[in-house]
Amino acid sequence: MTVTRFAPSPTGRLHVGNIRTALHNWLWARKTGGRFVLRLDDTDAARSEERFVEAIRADLAWLGMTPDEEVRQSDRGDRYQARFAALVDAGRVYPAYETQAELDLKRKVLLGRGLPPVYDRAALALTDAERARLEGEDVRPHWRFRLDHGAAIEWNDLVRGAQRFDPATMSDPVVRRADGSWLYMLPSAIDDVEIAISHVVRGEDHVANTALQLQMFAAMGAAPPAFAHTALLTGAEGKLSKRLGSLGVDHFREVGIEPQAVRALLARIGTSDPVEPIAEAEPLIASFDFARFGRAPARFDEAELAQTSARIVHQLPFASVSPRLPAGMDEAAWQAIRPNLTRVDEAADWWQVVEGPIDAPPAGEDAGFLAQAATMAVTIDWQGDPWHALTSALKAATGRAGKPLFLPLRRALTGRDHGPDMKALLPLIGRDRAIERLAPR
Ligand code: GLU
Repeated sequence: MTVTRFAPSPTGRLHVGNIRTALHNWLWARKTGGRFVLRLDDTDAARSEERFVEAIRADLAWLGMTPDEEVRQSDRGDRYQARFAALVDAGRVYPAYETQAELDLKRKVLLGRGLPPVYDRAALALTDAERARLEGEDVRPHWRFRLDHGAAIEWNDLVRGAQRFDPATMSDPVVRRADGSWLYMLPSAIDDVEIAISHVVRGEDHVANTALQLQMFAAMGAAPPAFAHTALLTGAEGKLSKRLGSLGVDHFREVGIEPQAVRALLARIGTSDPVEPIAEAEPLIASFDFARFGRAPARFDEAELAQTSARIVHQLPFASVSPRLPAGMDEAAWQAIRPNLTRVDEAADWWQVVEGPIDAPPAGEDAGFLAQAATMAVTIDWQGDPWHALTSALKAATGRAGKPLFLPLRRALTGRDHGPDMKALLPLIGRDRAIERLAPR
């Protein structure tokens, strides 16, 4: 059974980059009939906030990606402690006593010699007596995971293909601070084992973490999940942009972007499939495939998102938008108006055009023509297609055709030069208002 997880830290709002990661995990779980877990990485008590937990849930709900299960790392301290103790017993986690200043100095020296700044494992070389002395001086250790240098770390990444790391070139990662708090690395691996995560899908900034975590899985005697590391997101200009970090659901809502558009775009950028205005989840789920992801950064273009959203608005069924429409606006009105919208809230402007009052420009030299139209509007049949009835009668009577026939009518009836199809709009405006708008003022 596929189990994926989206693991944000509730230290801020979700941004477009982690929304994309959430989406990939959700799509893969849905495609494989599996489960999608929301894991809140809230071990950092000082920076994690409940309001961000709530915002993450609300953002996922808005995007239609409700998790099947929610797990909080802050509830799982006992599990981390148990696994940690076992790893200490097995000699895979060891205490280290260097201060940050000492570690910084070691780094500097190595870098100064042109060497990679890999931790020298001095703590592993301590004798029992030295360790006892440090403990006696009340120096509290932090804890490192001892990498096995025996063999290269390898895996076949679902996006990046064959991956290989030499553990000897990597520092033994710190997994626990001197105050007992957890760093990200080990709790994440423990959760992945215990929640039986089958696929870890995340950004390529985690590739090196995966190498380390693969050794943690092995040290816990657990089979690792499959990994898929997606290329990072860049702005439209092709650069890693600061703005992306601040673009989230609040912004999308504010500028009238539909959640389906966010999904449709983020599901396809960085893949070989085109971005299409797909409102339903099913086609996105069906086409989702790690094999279609490229290695080049995925470009996020806000203008493309807005276009995709507009094209989705044109498809939205009345039932899904009716709570957001002005009172009185019915299904026929929505059908008539939606092709002219880029955002749903613009429907109110067109409803105002239907209901009036409108501000029509002076009739000018079309005054006579419009007066004639007003007279005909009284006699035509309003049941069938009044626009056709009105314009054919006027055409026959005046010889006008094309723009000189249609534009003065549109202006008088709507106050605008452009807008929804008059054939659909005129029945909404209705007989009485139409006659009034056409009549000489
Ligand atoms: N909290 C981590 C992050 O947001 C999770 C990484 C992971 O998916 O393991 O980067």
